[in-house]
Amino acid sequence: MTDTLKHQGQRRQLVKLLKQKGIQDERVLNAVGTVPRHIFMDPGLEEYSYLDKAFPIGANQTISQPYTVAFQTQLLELKKGDKVLEIGTGSGYQTAILLTFEGIKLYTIERQLELFKKTTLLFKKLSLQPKKVIFGDGYQGLPDQAPFEGIIVTAGAPRVPKSLLEQLAIGGRLVIPVGDKDQVMTRYVRKGNKTFDRQSFGSFNFVPMLKDRN
Ligand code: SAH
Repeated sequence: MTDTLKHQGQRRQLVKLLKQKGIQDERVLNAVGTVPRHIFMDPGLEEYSYLDKAFPIGANQTISQPYTVAFQTQLLELKKGDKVLEIGTGSGYQTAILLTFEGIKLYTIERQLELFKKTTLLFKKLSLQPKKVIFGDGYQGLPDQAPFEGIIVTAGAPRVPKSLLEQLAIGGRLVIPVGDKDQVMTRYVRKGNKTFDRQSFGSFNFVPMLKDRN
């Protein structure tokens, strides 16, 4: 799991590309420049780690494209001390990006047991410390720990789970790709008890959010 000069050079190129594609938040660019994505890739695909593409990670799931990770993270507009819920731990790459933000309390939920086990182990090895990694159904959110200033969903949701909107703090942001085949990146900001602002941010392609336990 070494991080070579070559990897570092490839990351600098990737950061340059993401800037060209419109990512502006310096904290997000720094995160992509710092987190060794190759450690989160399936062995055998390592050489492609710094291409701006999604790749299989087993269990029919994918590690998201770096641009998508950067775009969603930027939309979260994280502040120091924010409590954040991530749905779809997957490879753990997005989790590691979020953990570069100062003073974030991060909870992450994964539905696939195989990935939950593998990635929990990887976090230990890397001394990455989300508050909690949960094996469960993200549709329910995490009522015990609510409210959250940020909720990020990293799988395509056919509809917006009501429970997630309910678990937002006032001023909190839910970033979620919504749709069946392609998804529209959507951000909800909670303005009051029952009022939300909704904004759309273009089309993306995600693996579908799972409903039933596999
Ligand atoms: N962000 C991760 C994973 C992206 S793929 C990465 O970049 O590696 C989407 C992930 O969401 C998969 O790991 C999938 O198993 C998980 N997932 C799908 N439906 C879910 C649900 N209902 N609850 C929690 N996780 C879910």
